[in-house]
Amino acid sequence: MKRVVLFGPPGVGKGTQGGRLAVALGVPAISTGDLFRAHVKNGTELGTRLSALIAAGDYVPDSITNTMLAERLAEPDAAAGFLLDGYPRTADQVAELDRLLALAGTSLDAVLLLAADDDVLEERLLKRAADQGRADDTPEVIRHRLALYHAETEPLVALYDAADLVLRVDGVGTPDQVHERLIEVIGQKEPSALS
Ligand code: ADP
Repeated sequence: MKRVVLFGPPGVGKGTQGGRLAVALGVPAISTGDLFRAHVKNGTELGTRLSALIAAGDYVPDSITNTMLAERLAEPDAAAGFLLDGYPRTADQVAELDRLLALAGTSLDAVLLLAADDDVLEERLLKRAADQGRADDTPEVIRHRLALYHAETEPLVALYDAADLVLRVDGVGTPDQVHERLIEVIGQKEPSALS
């Protein structure tokens, strides 16, 4: 299991779990949110252009996101596999990922869907706001991000369900509990995935 998408709403723990799972799978974790935040932090031209949009919790345009993702996947460390966190989020991004993988003669091994109810997610994001001070963790922007996820991103699960790629995991629990669940579903699907 080397090419994996970690899917789920904001606040469900994709960053935390993605980092740990990537280590377990021996692949790099690639978060488009982290890539964008690095641009904002470093004051690049792209970061300056996108900072208001990201702070408002809106999606970055597909053309920009897809270009950035394609460049990241072209780096040598992603050749043998990757874990994607926060990508794809739109139908266009699903199509672009399919296209990139087909060009490389590969395909996805699994889409791991982490789930939690909105009230749990909101509470976690508000707590993170106090700890980390992310510009998009204000109550209004959190609600907007959740609504955008439900409207634009959640329906994409059906596309991956049709390809029988989705593994569902309960995201409510301690980080260790959720990690164990992820390891378990992966092991069930492909016993040799974790060495
Ligand atoms: P979260 O999952 O909590 O919303 P992320 O760190 O994944 O946080 O993303 C933060 C922000 O970065 C998003 O609200 C959006 O503005 C932008 N972003 C990240 N990934 C994408 C993507 N695949 N498509 C469009 N915008 C994205």
